[in-house]
Amino acid sequence: MRRKIFFSIIFVALAMQLVSLGIAVPLLYRHLTEEQFQRIRSEVALVGMGVERNGLDYLETLEGVDFRVTWITPEGAILYDSEVSSAVMENHLSREEIVDALANGCGESSRYSDTLSERRLYTARRLDDGSVLRLSINQMTILYLLGQYSLPLLGVTAVGLVVAFAIASLLSSKIVQPINELNLDEPMGNTAYDVYTEIKPLILRLEQQHRQLERDKKELEKTSLIRQEFTANASHELKTPLHVISGYAELLENGLVKEDDAHHFAALIHKESQRMSKLVEDIIDLSFLDSGAVGVTRERTDLYRIAQNAVDSLEKTADDAGITVTLQGEHAEMNGIPQVLYGLVYNLVLNAITYSDRGTSVKVSVTRGDHGIRLTVLDHGIGIPLEEQGRIFERFYRVDKSRSKDVGGTGLGLSIVKHAAHIHSAEIKLQSAPGKGSAFTVYFPVDESPEK
Ligand code: ADP
Repeated sequence: MRRKIFFSIIFVALAMQLVSLGIAVPLLYRHLTEEQFQRIRSEVALVGMGVERNGLDYLETLEGVDFRVTWITPEGAILYDSEVSSAVMENHLSREEIVDALANGCGESSRYSDTLSERRLYTARRLDDGSVLRLSINQMTILYLLGQYSLPLLGVTAVGLVVAFAIASLLSSKIVQPINELNLDEPMGNTAYDVYTEIKPLILRLEQQHRQLERDKKELEKTSLIRQEFTANASHELKTPLHVISGYAELLENGLVKEDDAHHFAALIHKESQRMSKLVEDIIDLSFLDSGAVGVTRERTDLYRIAQNAVDSLEKTADDAGITVTLQGEHAEMNGIPQVLYGLVYNLVLNAITYSDRGTSVKVSVTRGDHGIRLTVLDHGIGIPLEEQGRIFERFYRVDKSRSKDVGGTGLGLSIVKHAAHIHSAEIKLQSAPGKGSAFTVYFPVDESPEK
């Protein structure tokens, strides 16, 4: 950038010099021509006085002068010429300066001389006897002028260039300095911001990117913290059943369990291993949802049918718990990921069964409305205190830890529900009161995409 500014200034300086020369040289040329005229004007007056007094004799005495003298009769005949024989010279009555001198007393012209084959300046003066005295000199050419003044002209150009170089290098560094000193870490703190309004958009953009980077960094830190917490919790959750399994298995192995109790210990090992397997399944589901279910295409899915499948799968669990589960509503098609929607309904219904007392009922309903599809899972179970309602969707958060563990809960069910809803742009509402039961409602927005 600095080089570009530097050479631009030099270029402008050179152009200015050329333009100045282009204007100055013709002006100088005009001025010098006028001076030449001035000189022969005064010379013609002097020589005229001499001729009026002594005629040809005076002219014969003129020596060493750098002008040409011509004396012409009022009829245009040449009486005398200092450079060419008057015999070979044609009548001069048609010459512009002669015509003017005869008419007005004096005349001037500048033209190419056929006689001498060069450009000349003429001045003529009418004498008392009516004859005309003419003086002429060689008019200097522009080339001659340039030759004469080449040294001073070159000198001025050289000085101009040196000055231009100095100014260009000073200015270019000065212009570039604030940009070189830009503090990219704190864009708004830059003084260049005040100096150059042109870089304002750049600074603002930088500031925006900085803020975005900060936000991304914080988000990343948060995500990383959540991951760390999750890994620690998951390891802990997996270790507990593993310890139980390994402890009981060791007792059995060492024959420390009475034959009558063996069945009981085997059942405990079975229960713990099932818990582990459910936990691993939930972790896999959650990590799939965490990645935004990439690579899985959405398809036309009937949410009612999905709910039906989930309720059917949980029939035995509900029977064992002495809970009646009913499904009502209508077929409701939407664009979605069937296995994700299944996980959502399954976890809500499983929780409703798990946290309800024997003899109560769970109602699942799927309805279609103007604003979308609504799924509700309602139970008359233990309910959730208001202050806990905001936290139950967090990973591994349980209101009553021991109850959750007793019934084989992993603490991940509602996290799976939350992610599954998010992937489908759905909203979850919870109405619950301790001792009265809970109603989880998921609102799926109107699906405007064409059927696939
Ligand atoms: P868990 O595997 O422990 O059920 P979830 O993430 O599914 O884990 O639920 C988190 C906690 O929310 C549960 O431990 C429970 O305390 C509470 N909870 C969830 N659903 C219900 C419900 N229908 N009734 C009462 N409490 C519930």
